[in-house]
Amino acid sequence: MKRYNYLVTGAAGFIGSHVVDELLKRDDILQLFIIDKLGEGSSVSNMNVHDKRVRFIMEDIANDSAYEDLPNIDFILHLAAESHVDRSITNPLACMTSNLMGTAKILELTRKDGARLVSVSTDEVYGHLQLDEPAFTEETILAPRSPYSATKAGADLLVQSYITTYGIDASITRCCNNYGPRQACEKLIPTVIGKLLKDEPIPIYGNGQNIREWVHVTDHAKAIIEVLHTGHTDTVYNIPGSIHLTNLEMVDKIIEKVLEFKPEINPSIEFVDDRAGHDFKYSISTKHSLKSVRDQRDFDLSDTVEFYLK
Ligand code: NAD
Repeated sequence: MKRYNYLVTGAAGFIGSHVVDELLKRDDILQLFIIDKLGEGSSVSNMNVHDKRVRFIMEDIANDSAYEDLPNIDFILHLAAESHVDRSITNPLACMTSNLMGTAKILELTRKDGARLVSVSTDEVYGHLQLDEPAFTEETILAPRSPYSATKAGADLLVQSYITTYGIDASITRCCNNYGPRQACEKLIPTVIGKLLKDEPIPIYGNGQNIREWVHVTDHAKAIIEVLHTGHTDTVYNIPGSIHLTNLEMVDKIIEKVLEFKPEINPSIEFVDDRAGHDFKYSISTKHSLKSVRDQRDFDLSDTVEFYLK
């Protein structure tokens, strides 16, 4: 069997680590390179570095030195990004470097090696919806509203420009919110669990009515790999989830699940000042029929809560 060199960027983070776990189930891997700078919210313990096929390069993807020791790469899954909207508001320039310049460097590598690329983007590039507006489609015009989503949209446009100009083989995925084990503590679900365990009030932005769509991280990881191997170049794949919830409903579900394990906890909620430019609602649909999206699990927080309780 022919074996290939894979590169996954951002695999010390939440979604990238699950992508690597799913990829390692394949038997066509010669070497699997990970480039991650071990930035905010990442952890070496997220990565399966014990598998003999894995090589970890601790570098910034925006630096040329990240690529010096790589052999010719066949497949690239690009996930490295400054991924937190709040951090993008306090430090927007970090997003420019990682999400724009970092993606440009990945595109240069793709071009040089003739690799196939999947660039992992987000539904946030479409902007936001009001309550009764229909879901975003792959044809929706990009209208990002935060430095995070603007730089992700810019990265998507760079990918499309390299497809048009240089004929690279690349697809873009745009997913909704992910839940599951290993997410950085600054994000909603781990924050809520952390506050519950410390017996502190759970902070909720605004009135808690903002709506998000949720997919389990493993289903997202499988969808990214499915697009890599069965997807078409110059094509965007939205990856919808299994449920829409207001933030308040999500917090209730987390409390319910944590109480199953720790019935002695007394939850309390505190409404805090809303995030600047807080997007109201995200919802996506897709014209594609990915198996991993069709077969995704029903919403269930069990493994997520168990992970943080450990
Ligand atoms: P994360 O913050 O958990 O992981 C990102 C990883 O990228 C971290 O390990 C970080 O160290 C690394 N990184 C950041 N900048 C880097 C750089 N310049 N060089 C090298 N490494 C760098 O984020 P995540 O939630 O796993 O998101 C991964 C990707 O998926 C991102 O591109 C994000 O935009 C996208 N996405 C996330 C969600 C979600 O719900 N979390 C939804 C849709 C799309």
